[in-house]
Amino acid sequence: MASRMEQMAARWIVRSGLLEWIEHVECRNPALLRVLVYHRIDWPTAAQRWLDPSLLSATPENFEQQMAYLMRHYCVVTVDEVLAAVRQGASLPPAAVMVTFDDGYCDFRTQAWPVLERLQVPATLFVPTDYLDESANRFWWDRLYTAFMNSPLPSLDHASCGRWLLAEDLDRLRAYFSIKQCLLASEHHHAMQRVDDLCLALAAGACPPQRCARDTLTWNDLRQLVQAGLSVGAHTQSHPVLSRVALGEAQREILGSRCAIERELGYALPIFSYPCGHAQDIRTQVIDVLFQAGFWLGMTSLEGHNHIPASNPLRLRRVGLAAHTTLDEFRLCLTGFYNVYGGLLALRQKRAVLASRTKAVTAVRALGRYSLRA
Ligand SMILES: [Zn+2]
Repeated sequence: MASRMEQMAARWIVRSGLLEWIEHVECRNPALLRVLVYHRIDWPTAAQRWLDPSLLSATPENFEQQMAYLMRHYCVVTVDEVLAAVRQGASLPPAAVMVTFDDGYCDFRTQAWPVLERLQVPATLFVPTDYLDESANRFWWDRLYTAFMNSPLPSLDHASCGRWLLAEDLDRLRAYFSIKQCLLASEHHHAMQRVDDLCLALAAGACPPQRCARDTLTWNDLRQLVQAGLSVGAHTQSHPVLSRVALGEAQREILGSRCAIERELGYALPIFSYPCGHAQDIRTQVIDVLFQAGFWLGMTSLEGHNHIPASNPLRLRRVGLAAHTTLDEFRLCLTGFYNVYGGLLALRQKRAVLASRTKAVTAVRALGRYSLRA
């Protein structure tokens, strides 16, 4: 949830007692499964010129508050419990919530895991396996974000991406989010070529900025986390949007990531998370690939909750969170209110230009009082 109006509406619904009543009714329904998805947990100031701020899902403080709330009022289920529900028809406990993370950023280990471990919250992390190797550790969107935020240019005039003002940070964010949106809708390899071109153009002859810290976890990190209780799932090898590559390549990405997990961790759960995962990113043929390969759970970014066994387990909906989500909004997201909000959000996302503008404004708001130049 983004706007102040939505935050005020959330506060009103909580204070009126309506939310408590809905929570009470819905938490008795054992068929209802809520799946939360987080990407990064960090302070907005950390890596603010290096990592795309739209992937911040919570500050460490908010995240701890959210996990504590879940442990007090909900039943956080393990991936094995969800697998047993869809494979063998086992019942889920009432008020079931599953906590998932995508992408495997380093802050999962430094910020999220200490909270999860202390509060004993079961969690599942979906990783694009190529990024766990020592050599490749920067996602294309973070490379592009770095290039935009650190470019010495006052404007960009690019043959295929158009002319963009880069005078202020808001201009840079607007350009970045608009171009990223277009790239996500383009054929994957063509888009990657364009990212390289743009990074080069934005550096304008200067040395491209180097980030000293690693962005993503390594296999060694993952082995330690698994030993401490984390569950791991596949999220392709190189994180292409699977509707933007040929079907054969999508199949190689899916099976390759499962093989890598099996090789490095000794076993692989039959669970998968679609990169980006919105309606336009998931083809029916890709769901068929997962089914034929023996996967049982497929996590999307479609907004909403699931009814087990009625929902397609290879197309599970999730609840996405933003860094500035308040606890009132978080509580709303766990109830049926979220289905209404999720529908509205899906409509908005169909309008890419509007979405990119919203993201730029949201990012600026999320960074709040912190100066990007600090
Ligand atoms: Zn992802």
